[in-house]
Amino acid sequence: MDDLKTGMIFDIQRCSMYDGPGIRTTVFLKGCPLSCKWCHNPESQRPLSELAFYADKCVRCGKCGEICPDVHKLSARTHKVHYQNCKACGRCESVCPVHALKLIGKTYQIKEVMDILRKDIPYFASAGGGLTISGGEPFSQYIFLKELLQHAKAENIHTCIETSGFTTREKIDGVLPYTDLFLFDYKVTSPELHRQFTGVDNHMILENFRYLYSRSQAVILRCPIIPGYNDTEDHFRAICDMERQYPNLTGIEIMPYHSLGREKAAAVNKAYEITTPTADDTVKKQWKRQLKTFGASDALLKSF
Ligand code: SF4
Ligand code: SF4
Repeated sequence: MDDLKTGMIFDIQRCSMYDGPGIRTTVFLKGCPLSCKWCHNPESQRPLSELAFYADKCVRCGKCGEICPDVHKLSARTHKVHYQNCKACGRCESVCPVHALKLIGKTYQIKEVMDILRKDIPYFASAGGGLTISGGEPFSQYIFLKELLQHAKAENIHTCIETSGFTTREKIDGVLPYTDLFLFDYKVTSPELHRQFTGVDNHMILENFRYLYSRSQAVILRCPIIPGYNDTEDHFRAICDMERQYPNLTGIEIMPYHSLGREKAAAVNKAYEITTPTADDTVKKQWKRQLKTFGASDALLKSF
């Protein structure tokens, strides 16, 4: 094992309750081969560091413009950011008094992540939690992913990967000995629509899911539902079919869309075409009715 290996991480969230069982520390790796239209972490998609500018926080003090005039162009009423000129050095982040600038993605060594993880071991022990590696797509930094999992398992920490499933069989085999649980996305049923909405079709993803299941790995199938995109009868029916067809799944959950990604995309100058509002209770009730019609279990209906 090599604790000097480095990875590009855009966030580490401690005490997370949503990324697997118990209280977890979630490490978000940067870079993703997919480009889901509803991505809730659009700042994760590019593999390298990048600048985020939160316009609503900016008080136009001008400090960033003084140190980096090629990127930050300020006038009395506006602050335009010329992202294409940014070298992602992070100097402007450090002078901004109101945290309107942030460098997304920093390089960490394994040992730095492990130092953070070790502080949380008492919480893991008391609440049955552990490490979750999310993204982006964790497999896009396979070497770092595997190394981090190995280090965590060496200290008896429960490990979980949150994945789109878009990776090779070899990489899945590489992490299996060190992974206790997969949170595996099931986004769209039709391969064509999957490509249209995420940039890739779902052939390899479903192959990988079936492979994990056949190896009796613990898998929670997570189904993001986005109004107007995949809240279709066909997809709901397919989710219920999956639940019946794979009775030994550790779980199957609906993940209703929320619109947080829109602001985050704007901050890193990324297009975000979805205008759908966050799924509210009325929409969710309607989904539950439909899913029930197709035979969803109580557990699935209670997952959202
Ligand atoms: S991150 Fe560096 S290069 Fe980019 S805008 Fe800030 S100071 Fe300029
Ligand atoms: S330093 Fe921060 S508050 Fe000041 S102009 Fe730049 S982004 Fe706005």
